[in-house]
Amino acid sequence: MNKIFLPLLLAVVIFTGCKKDGAVNPQEAKDDAAFTAYEQTFLDGLWKQNPDWATAEGYHKYDSLLLVPSSKNFDKQVDFDKKQLDSINRYDITLLSQSSKIDYYLIQNAMQYSQWSIKQLKQYQWAPTYYNCIGTFAVILNEHYAPLASRLRKFYQKMAFIPDYYKEAEKQIKDPVVELTNLAIDQHLGGVGVIEQDFGDSLKKTNIPEAEQKLMLDRAHASAEVIKGFAAWLKAIKNDHPRSFRLGKDLYEDKFKYEIQSQYTAQQIFNAATERKKYVHREMAKLSKTLWPKYFGNQAMPTDSLDLIRQVIDTISSQHVAAANFQNAIEKQIPVLTAFVTQKGLLTMDPSKPLVVRKEPAYMAGVAGASMSSPGPYDKSGNAYYNVGSLANYTPEKAESYLREYNNYTLQILSIHEAIPGHYVQLTYANQSPSLIKSIFGNNTMIEGWAVYGEQMMLDNGYGGDSPEMRLMWYKWHLRSVCNTILDYSVHAGGMNQDQAIKMLTHEAFQQQTEAENKWKRVTVTSVQLDCYFTGYKEIMDLREAWKKDQGDKYNLKDFNEKFLSYGSAPVKYIKEAMMAKQTTNPTGN
Ligand code: ZN
Ligand code: ZN
Repeated sequence: MNKIFLPLLLAVVIFTGCKKDGAVNPQEAKDDAAFTAYEQTFLDGLWKQNPDWATAEGYHKYDSLLLVPSSKNFDKQVDFDKKQLDSINRYDITLLSQSSKIDYYLIQNAMQYSQWSIKQLKQYQWAPTYYNCIGTFAVILNEHYAPLASRLRKFYQKMAFIPDYYKEAEKQIKDPVVELTNLAIDQHLGGVGVIEQDFGDSLKKTNIPEAEQKLMLDRAHASAEVIKGFAAWLKAIKNDHPRSFRLGKDLYEDKFKYEIQSQYTAQQIFNAATERKKYVHREMAKLSKTLWPKYFGNQAMPTDSLDLIRQVIDTISSQHVAAANFQNAIEKQIPVLTAFVTQKGLLTMDPSKPLVVRKEPAYMAGVAGASMSSPGPYDKSGNAYYNVGSLANYTPEKAESYLREYNNYTLQILSIHEAIPGHYVQLTYANQSPSLIKSIFGNNTMIEGWAVYGEQMMLDNGYGGDSPEMRLMWYKWHLRSVCNTILDYSVHAGGMNQDQAIKMLTHEAFQQQTEAENKWKRVTVTSVQLDCYFTGYKEIMDLREAWKKDQGDKYNLKDFNEKFLSYGSAPVKYIKEAMMAKQTTNPTGN
């Protein structure tokens, strides 16, 4: 999911709208109302400490600041984390509401994660990509949350920190990972245009006085030179003992714990994914055997089941729309999916919050396909957009390969995943929960897991008319999530090399060579992130099984889905705790 942060209208309303019960007497200072008040203090401090993050979340008070990555500032961050951990320790968790309890865990995890990142992970030493500050400048330039002139003045003030920022960065970097060094060089040289060119272009559209504009432009040029200088410094760095891009098993387990927040360990998830792949292969082979005569007549069936599956997939993939109809086909799917969800009673859709399908805005361009843009936590009433990229700039060969990937079957699965009942529906439910903490520390594993779970739920309830083609293509799609997990763990906690990885992705997950190569690139510059899809899916399926058992005859799918979504974007293990606790303490289910 791709978050875009829209105008800040409601920060004040949301802040004052939080329940505050007036006078709090000393005995109650550990209770829910006191904790809710603490959350606001916590967020004020968090944003002051992390201005770039604040800007990204749509909180614009500190837009003009850029935190210099000095050792002193890292110490300050560790101090902040420790203070917050001490503060939450004062609250008695048994006195907190179910929702506050989850907030408590999220804050605790975030502060521990931050401490661990600075003291153990130390990315600021080995990952030069840590220092890409250009993205926030692009947000200030492109997001229309305030008049252009005022955003450009913030941009100007923020640039004042750039020289110190990169001076400190150069002091911190030591034995950097080669892949991350190269990526940082690309990101800085690719992104510098925002400061060198786009900023000046935008200035011309304002009535800022000429003399002031000149100062602003001068600083932009100086800043661009600093950024290019940093890229040149990275290129020239003498790096005889670079750190490996592999995270290593110990750091991996810890990062997984903080990032994924699963009830399972990374090793357990890897084992489950390995089993899942075997299961999916068996099912795919059965479906392919059924489909063979329809597409290949009397032709002899390949004896190797992976070859058989691949041939059937290749043939079905030729059923796709023309490039010119791509957006139109996606637009037409939305009402169909909505009607299906409602008619089957899978969950209640909020008709007052329609999803807006739009052409991908120019500044996001580059990635074709479709993605969700959700309103940020400070503007929950903003529109959700389903962005559809254009294939207009693709060569015919590239467009054909892309359209085969998003063929008539997978294009539907894409919309299920991104929109209905996937990310878009989950988001509208999450926005009904008043907790800012859950939006800001939203758990990506739950978010992606829900979208993957939603795909299977739709098919299990008859979407696609139980067609074996649809099921087969979903399995191929699903193998991407499964193999993301296998790949990430094998590479970062083990020693899987590029050849082995490409072989697995092309041969066992039926991916195109280009897709597999891109995935390899991604796994060398990120870690743990790729686990979220399968982990979240597995946790939700497990929770539904437990819930089903618990409910007996009263079990109802709609009831499960809506209850599950009502807790916001929280880690599944805490939703589980809340859902199952409700059952035992309140058997009337109220
Ligand atoms: Zn997703
Ligand atoms: Zn074709």
